[in-house]
Amino acid sequence: MQTGAGAPRGVPRFRDVLVAPRNWALWRQGPRVVVYCLLSEAAAVVLALRPFPVAVDRRTLLILAVLLVLGVVQSETGRRVERIRRRVSGTPHINMTSVWTFAGVLLLPPSLLAVLVCGLYAHLAVRSWYRLQRVPVSRTVSNAAIILLSCYAAQAVMRLSGFADVRSAFTRGWAGTFAIAAAGATFFVVNALLVLPARREIGRTPEALFGTWSDNGLEVATLCLGALNAVALAMLPGLVVLALPPLLLLHRTVLVRQLEVAAHRDEKTGLYNSSGWHSLAERTLAAAARQNTTFGLLMLDLDHFKQVNDTYGHLAGDAVLRAVAEAIISAVRGRGDAVGRFGGEEFVVLLPGIAHPDIGAVAERIRRAITTLKVPVGQLTITGLSTSIGMAVYPEAGTSLQRLLDAADTALYHAKATGRNKVVHVADLA
Ligand code: GH3
Ligand code: MG
Ligand code: MG
Repeated sequence: MQTGAGAPRGVPRFRDVLVAPRNWALWRQGPRVVVYCLLSEAAAVVLALRPFPVAVDRRTLLILAVLLVLGVVQSETGRRVERIRRRVSGTPHINMTSVWTFAGVLLLPPSLLAVLVCGLYAHLAVRSWYRLQRVPVSRTVSNAAIILLSCYAAQAVMRLSGFADVRSAFTRGWAGTFAIAAAGATFFVVNALLVLPARREIGRTPEALFGTWSDNGLEVATLCLGALNAVALAMLPGLVVLALPPLLLLHRTVLVRQLEVAAHRDEKTGLYNSSGWHSLAERTLAAAARQNTTFGLLMLDLDHFKQVNDTYGHLAGDAVLRAVAEAIISAVRGRGDAVGRFGGEEFVVLLPGIAHPDIGAVAERIRRAITTLKVPVGQLTITGLSTSIGMAVYPEAGTSLQRLLDAADTALYHAKATGRNKVVHVADLA
């Protein structure tokens, strides 16, 4: 399930948040986020309290209790996995509550569904988000409201298809099956759309907007398990505990994928680190050898970067490195282009399918982008940055990655030695 959870800096202590509404972290978001969160929370409350023509019997209360208990058990048993995940900064919390909330969609009336969502999110907030990541209470409330609205949208689809709950779906075979599938799809889509305006920064790439394929795969998997849970609870309630082992395994699998990604990423800039870039470059080289194509390598080193650190301090230097990383990313854009940081102020760019003279144009675009950078640091703005770039193209400059890197490095050294702020192609040195 997607949430906008993220811990902004300077979050007040849990107790402060409870006693002083004026200290709520919510007010520190932009006006758009504040208005959106308040509106979605109000809508969730109104929909939860609307009169509903179904009497709540003991059996329904029991189902609510079972879903709550299993949700808490799952999140508690998953804490070991979450502890491992926490050691690697930047990987998002793995939230699999849809397994229980979607079962609730198919089994509970709106008011009890609200109790289920609030219960599960309160537990998550206290045990995971607040303690571990300092996620403010306002975030949790807004996440819970968005989930509840997604649940109600899914329930509306069930009702519009003519089914009160999963039991009535049993009586009509395929029609019931399709209604449950449509409810699941609705939950997925509505949730993905509703979380967008709640984020302080709305991404521009599909991945930044809607998450990676594996994030979405996890969401689909939890919704599938949620539907099976609902069927089990309606027919043979004891069977629902069978969902726990696959869930724990799923949790672990997602963690492994997150660690894989984190192991290949440079924390400071979000670019590939040396090992991540190397394995990608080796694959590109193997593909180019097989298909008789070319690819290019750029090696960049910021000019006089030590002066930036000496003048403005190391933190300002780090801000410059992040700005340079973004500038390089925006200047390349091509399919399969990979930007890495080799440590310090050295970057590498892999450009599949490119050759002379296009590679020179890309390098020149990067060089120019860096000279026009304005990096705000506190009250100051750092400008006047420049970079020297060496380039090499496969296979002319070498047929192994090491040869190509050496060639690009030689060209870079030449750029440094002959005045800096320039692009040099290794082929021009001979
Ligand atoms: P040149 O034009 O010859 O490349 O000069 P330079 O000053 O850029 O090169 P030099 O290799 O002397 O200095 C690199 C500096 O980069 C020194 C080091 O303190 C700084 N540096 C390396 N890693 C980081 C980092 O992660 N953050 C910051 N802020 N500075 C870093
Ligand atoms: Mg250097
Ligand atoms: Mg340098």
